[in-house]
Amino acid sequence: MEDLHEGGCVCGQVRYRTTGKPKRVSLCSCTWCTKRTGSALGVSVYFAEQDVEFLSGKLKSHRLTSDAGRWIESQFCENCGTALTWTLEFLPGHRGMAGGTFDPPTFWYEPERFVFMRSKPEWLSVPKGVDCFAGMPGSASE
Ligand SMILES: [Zn+2]
Ligand SMILES: [Zn+2]
Repeated sequence: MEDLHEGGCVCGQVRYRTTGKPKRVSLCSCTWCTKRTGSALGVSVYFAEQDVEFLSGKLKSHRLTSDAGRWIESQFCENCGTALTWTLEFLPGHRGMAGGTFDPPTFWYEPERFVFMRSKPEWLSVPKGVDCFAGMPGSASE
């Protein structure tokens, strides 16, 4: 049976569906993740690009340069502004989904790694079994 999960933005206009298991699930406290979420960390759920289908609504795009010096193309609902998804220069062929935008059952995936630990708040503890990195492993900012 196919492993399908759906999610969407706050206003409900943008809806998406993912197929299969994520390729990678990261927790991240980089500047971009804390800004886009307004929180202490982002939950980044990466799929192969072809495993994400957008069902309704309109997305707007914004491109910026990450803490690691690479571009991030971020997409959000043009109506309510929920940041839902992005693509990254350093992960070609993949699409990140904002973990908290999945419908119930939310957080059905297992985080594997915590990146940008150096900007993680002291009061936030990392779950057991999650690999920790000061920056982005494999980049100059590691
Ligand atoms: Zn919306
Ligand atoms: Zn991040």
